[in-house]
Amino acid sequence: MADLIELLQEANIIGRGGAEFPAHRKWRAVRDAPGTPKYVICNVSEREPGVFKDYHILARHPEKVIAGMTLAMKTVGAAEGIINLNVDYEKKFKKALDKLLAKAKEDGFTLRLFEEAPGYIGGEESALLNAMEGKRCEPRLKPPFPTDAGLRGKPTLIHNVETLYDIACVADGSYDNRRFYSVSGAVPNIGVYRLPCVLTVRDVLTETQNLPAAPYFVQAGGGAGGVVLNADQAATERVRGTGAIIVHLTNEDPRALLLDWLRFFQRESCGKCTPCREGTYQLLRMVEDNDEIPWDRMQPILDVLERTSFCALGRSVPVPVLTYYKNVYSKR
Ligand code: SF4
Repeated sequence: MADLIELLQEANIIGRGGAEFPAHRKWRAVRDAPGTPKYVICNVSEREPGVFKDYHILARHPEKVIAGMTLAMKTVGAAEGIINLNVDYEKKFKKALDKLLAKAKEDGFTLRLFEEAPGYIGGEESALLNAMEGKRCEPRLKPPFPTDAGLRGKPTLIHNVETLYDIACVADGSYDNRRFYSVSGAVPNIGVYRLPCVLTVRDVLTETQNLPAAPYFVQAGGGAGGVVLNADQAATERVRGTGAIIVHLTNEDPRALLLDWLRFFQRESCGKCTPCREGTYQLLRMVEDNDEIPWDRMQPILDVLERTSFCALGRSVPVPVLTYYKNVYSKR
């Protein structure tokens, strides 16, 4: 087989956990980084509302995910593979995964499960490294990146479930430029669909027989940090990030929608940095305490969150709020 890293580059395999970082660059970085032992981690976190494709993949194709891990371990020279498993998924998948890990052991690969630290931040890659080391589960300052100094300070390759699935498909020749979409919200056919990567949001809704007859908008990429698009934008924009599409009807109560987002961010803020800890609290209070949404008073706090939050969770808060205001609310 040709060099797998080159094949990943040719196939343009990117991270499907949200960041969309090219897989081949991570592999080269870990393979070439000094320091041993090296590690490969499969991140089964998936705690964002409206994102459930990793569950689907683990239920139907766990062998592909483990194949992706062992290919990665062999290529970058990793001594151990670890699956950071969402505790809510553990009951469902532990038995099947244990069997696959035992089989991998017969083939010379050391893999184990790690029960994820609770909360959304438990899936942030540097926070999960801290949790695996028995430290407080909160993000680390980057750089250094995990590819240089990850688990116990050693080079570590961290991939999402779908990315590892794609990698196994590239290796066995079955990769066909498709990705998994989680479709939910005000649609009749909620589910996970594997369709071409190039489809627009509207194409995905049409293909899955989920295109609403009533006026609608979507949140795409994730149910918390995903961008909000109106129906015109949905006809031209592709789905980024985690591949989630959540459909809303335009008659939905704006305040209830904002409260859903802000309650999520406020609850999941790890509290490490002041802008996110205090900002999410203040934003939630403002909307809870007012019958009218105080957009003008929210704007400065959203600016601070975007500019000064320590990690992506805090920086994500303005994304749904401001795109909803700009693309949907202000056009009513
Ligand atoms: S932005 Fe929020 S989640 Fe991230 S480190 Fe700061 S408090 Fe924690």
